Amino acid sequence: MIRVFFKATFFKRNRTSSGFMFLYLLLGYNHLFSQFNSGVKFDKPNIVLILADDLGYGDLGVTGSKQLKTPHIDMLAKNGIFFPQAYVSAPVCSPSRAGLITGINQVEFGHDNNIGGNQPGFDPDFMGLPLDQKTIADHLSATGYVNGLIGKWHLGDAAQFHPLKRGFQEFWGYTGGGHDYFKSHPNGKGYLSPLESNFKTPQEISYLTDDKGDECVSFIKRHKKKPFFLFASFNAPHTPMQALEKDLALFGHITDKKRRTYAAMVYRLDVNVGKIIEALKKEGLTENTLVVFLSDNGGPVFSNASLNAPYNGSKGILLEGGVHVPFIMSWPGVLPKGQTYEHEVSALDLTPTFLVLAGVAKKDGHPFSGKNLLPYILGEKTDAPHTNLKWRFTISAAIREGDWKLIRLPDRLPLLFHLPTDISEKKNLSLENIEKTQELLKKLGDWDVGLPHPVFLEGAEWKKNQLDLYDREYRVEQMD
Ligand code: CA
Repeated sequence: MIRVFFKATFFKRNRTSSGFMFLYLLLGYNHLFSQFNSGVKFDKPNIVLILADDLGYGDLGVTGSKQLKTPHIDMLAKNGIFFPQAYVSAPVCSPSRAGLITGINQVEFGHDNNIGGNQPGFDPDFMGLPLDQKTIADHLSATGYVNGLIGKWHLGDAAQFHPLKRGFQEFWGYTGGGHDYFKSHPNGKGYLSPLESNFKTPQEISYLTDDKGDECVSFIKRHKKKPFFLFASFNAPHTPMQALEKDLALFGHITDKKRRTYAAMVYRLDVNVGKIIEALKKEGLTENTLVVFLSDNGGPVFSNASLNAPYNGSKGILLEGGVHVPFIMSWPGVLPKGQTYEHEVSALDLTPTFLVLAGVAKKDGHPFSGKNLLPYILGEKTDAPHTNLKWRFTISAAIREGDWKLIRLPDRLPLLFHLPTDISEKKNLSLENIEKTQELLKKLGDWDVGLPHPVFLEGAEWKKNQLDLYDREYRVEQMD
């Protein structure tokens, strides 16, 4: 660990000599760690954030899939750190992304809901990431990074929410929540909307996941000489279920057609993650680039045939299957290789972590919900980054504290689970353990009561849909 840390601190954008390495070794362990505490700049590594969309927890090799093929994502974990206890801050796309991109739990600024149609009594001008919130890209722009978003935005369609107004210098993609994988239309709406870009005339779509990978490679090549932040926002494997024939052919043994299509879509996502890693290698940037991979929420089992095994539940609810996601950080030569970090972490931690690397952490005293993970994963701090993690999503709320998790719903007793002995949240212990139930309900309530009202709502049908999802049965074992 110490060796790794020396390398971390030693590492510079322009590689210095081995003599300097020796000097750093002489300076000692504690002094070097203090650089993290003091927020001294980490010499601005590149940051590549790869976000999958609606990926099932159990659908990667690294998370135990026997059916899907994800060699590049698995290799990323093998070359970096895998976080088996990682969460997003919402079980659906838009609020999860709002939390991730600000480092603040989105319910603290009213972005509780998914962006869909505007509801009566709400002003559509507020249907997007509130304008008083700074994104990762806003913070990084102030320190000389070039920031690019390739792909899905889903933080507001109106002009005031556009990514180019939220800290990104380059955008290729679409502002909505999803897209057709094969086509768009000049006058198309929703999933057929035209792709837009501020740096080129967007090409015809070949297969959208491939096109995004190609654009990421192009971004890396164009900006290799200055620090960059690339947000590779894939929509795979979100619906519509559309895959390439050549990829479908690889999964002929999967008889369920939707599951086969899903497998092919995840495979193509993996190919393009590989493309990005290869581009970094080719440009000599591997050792100066932090790559993060995660999904924006759990798999919506019934719509895309994903599998959240070993977790129960799906996208849209606060059982683990909705919010517990695969999460990888890779930075060869700096971060430990092939390790796992066992404490709970959150997607909310990414913004504060990135800002420390860029040398701008806490500059403006921004009240992040997330924590800078660097001292934790490099071993300076051995306690857990979070005392607890909390969620509020429309009609539901939840808290995880240590081994316990409580979910509060409007139409039934609270759900209380002891996760180490019941990883699949099958046994509700709320009545057997009234004291723990009361304790966690109170913590949740004390937090909830201080939160603002949502700035926009999603339709009432989604509330019913959400409760129905708690009543469904989910497969919690892998498939052969
Ligand atoms: Ca999603």
